[in-house]
Amino acid sequence: MKTILVVNAGSSSVKFTLFFAADLHVAASGLVERIGLEGTRLVYRRPGQETIQRLVSIPDIGNAVELILPLLTDSQAGVIGSKEDIRAIGHRVVHGGEYISQPAMIDDRIKQIIRDCFDMAPLHNPQNLEGILACETGFPDIPQVAVFDTAFHATIPSKAYLYALPLRFCEEMKIRKYGFHGASHRYVSRKAAEWIGKPETDLRLITCHLGNGCSITAVSRGQSVDTSMGFTPLEGVPMGTRCGDIDPAILFYLMRQRGMNAEQLDILLNRESGLLGLAGTGSSDVRDLVQSMLTGHHQAETALRVFTYRIKKYIGAYLATLGGADAIVFTAGIGENSPLIREWICEGLTELGISIDPQLNQSVNGNLGEIQSAESRVLLLIVPTNEEAEIAIQTRELVTN
Ligand code: AMP
Repeated sequence: MKTILVVNAGSSSVKFTLFFAADLHVAASGLVERIGLEGTRLVYRRPGQETIQRLVSIPDIGNAVELILPLLTDSQAGVIGSKEDIRAIGHRVVHGGEYISQPAMIDDRIKQIIRDCFDMAPLHNPQNLEGILACETGFPDIPQVAVFDTAFHATIPSKAYLYALPLRFCEEMKIRKYGFHGASHRYVSRKAAEWIGKPETDLRLITCHLGNGCSITAVSRGQSVDTSMGFTPLEGVPMGTRCGDIDPAILFYLMRQRGMNAEQLDILLNRESGLLGLAGTGSSDVRDLVQSMLTGHHQAETALRVFTYRIKKYIGAYLATLGGADAIVFTAGIGENSPLIREWICEGLTELGISIDPQLNQSVNGNLGEIQSAESRVLLLIVPTNEEAEIAIQTRELVTN
């Protein structure tokens, strides 16, 4: 049986999922985590079978990729006979710059584009490329496809992707909005349309990917027309540890008043801000913050209020961008699993035709379904995301066409 292997090589982990090509059911999945650190661990799962876990000594991404094939073809734990059963390998690549609008067969040109974007995604693109190179060595005759996080947002028009800087900064340095989480926004838009029972081309959606990273996208007739993340994944709504939108003059102020340099500002804005920085409880996890709030920690409540208020503002902005919406979609760790966050986001929007049903908000939690009240004009949907499945869909489309 032919399969599609999806590989997501990150800074300290390599995740893989093997899908049956015919129906995209998962045959097996796994990850190697803490690569290059102490306690590197391999986890391997097959549906309905016991999870296999073992400590391994793996210094880099290449060695982690080398573990995958022996596992998948193992006489006991394996799910395929040989690597010939793999039709194609789909790789998640975070940044494709301004020229990539589609998944692409990996060749020298695509690898150069990934390299050209190293500076714009220094924590992702180098690792993504390392995963690709390792797969080219380990699976030399199997087509390799790159699916870019930025690609879904290639349809955003210039009025939305240009920053109001002198135009030469966009032309010469490619400083513009790119947007991220493309595979997730694409996947949940597709699923939402299936659920609603209308073609994507008939729908206006606002998709809210709320996880460790958060981004909101305005999807008009199946195409991204604006998104909250920008040149980097720092722009937009506040996130676990990222500040999201701030007045850029705060940076000059900190440089002048505190003598902070670019490196320190980068750490402050990316790793010490957001929910973590605002709540001051030592956690950026919404579950912990809700718990802290319930035990009387006011700053935790304030952090969650800032978070939900800013998401609400983006929803308002995208209602204007789209001229109204048919549905608002909640996805990713927080969006799928936190009734409180969804409730606060939707609070006070009845006049705009947005009204959540408190019971459905609780009972549908974590699953695909509608959570709006009877009078809501806009559908409110929870759609569990599946970025790996989206990469498999796009990879299969490319190699079978
Ligand atoms: P993701 O990046 O999609 O894996 O989302 C991870 C985030 O989802 C975590 O940092 C948590 O803040 C959040 N999360 C996961 N489960 C829950 C839950 N049951 N309630 C609230 N937040 C959750």
